Amino acid sequence: MSKSTLVKPGGRVRLTDHDPDENGGLSKEAPEVEERLEAARARMTELQGRLYAESKQSLLIVLQAMDAGGKDGTIRHVMRGVNPQGCSVTSFKAPTADELAHDFLWRIHRHTPAQGLIAVFNRSHYEDVLIVRVRKLVPKRVWSRRYAQINAFERLLTESGTRILKLFLHISAEEQKARLEARLADPRKCWKFNPEDLKEREAWDDYVTAYEEALSRCSTDEAPWHIIPANRKWYRNLVVAELVADTLEAMAPQWPAPACDLSGIVVK
Ligand code: ATP
Ligand code: MG
Repeated sequence: MSKSTLVKPGGRVRLTDHDPDENGGLSKEAPEVEERLEAARARMTELQGRLYAESKQSLLIVLQAMDAGGKDGTIRHVMRGVNPQGCSVTSFKAPTADELAHDFLWRIHRHTPAQGLIAVFNRSHYEDVLIVRVRKLVPKRVWSRRYAQINAFERLLTESGTRILKLFLHISAEEQKARLEARLADPRKCWKFNPEDLKEREAWDDYVTAYEEALSRCSTDEAPWHIIPANRKWYRNLVVAELVADTLEAMAPQWPAPACDLSGIVVK
């Protein structure tokens, strides 16, 4: 499954080539869906335990999406399998004055995961080549250098023992409309409605261009991007859970050997 979501390094992404309605030939009610999700969560639980105990490497999960793309829901459903003590979630909003007075990676770096931990970024340094580019918050000569700067930053992290899994939750413009309408209508969701989202929605095509360039230029061997079909929430959750579990498996964390010879020790 992970093969079809992977953005091949060096390739040129066109989002129209990726169907946000993809369901892997499954239906939401198929018992296999819940079984596979549970199996992936169970693998995550075991592997995170080992990652934490081993304390030699870490995992960074970067989540990006258009507004209402499902970042919060993905975190809620998929990360249920992990021990909160070994995991952090950071949501990156518009930078503060202090953050703007530094380089764009300054506020990011301090939230990267320490050895043994998993960190989830809800939005990330990619905003600095997305909204910043679309809204012309800095000149082109500034943002256009950032792709190489991001690749160098991510190489530093991977060479320091951090595995990076970057997930773009891909929804259609029609699905976004339906979700924004649902936010307006539902008292449990309307607190999330931000009139700014409508302004961003008007710039949908500019965001597509900006995403295509970020996904193309920053999918590297060390830190590849994945495009996750995300119109169907249940399928998105399944794909992401299996990708996270597969990634942890590939990292192969090991239970550490006991710190001393345990033979003959009796607990009285
Ligand atoms: P929700 O799904 O709950 O709406 P959200 O991630 O959209 O979550 P908001 O508080 O609505 O959270 O929006 C955060 C805003 O901050 C987004 O519009 C995002 O593009 C913006 N933002 C994040 N990073 C930057 C940045 N580096 N420069 C400018 N704006 C940024
Ligand atoms: Mg928002």
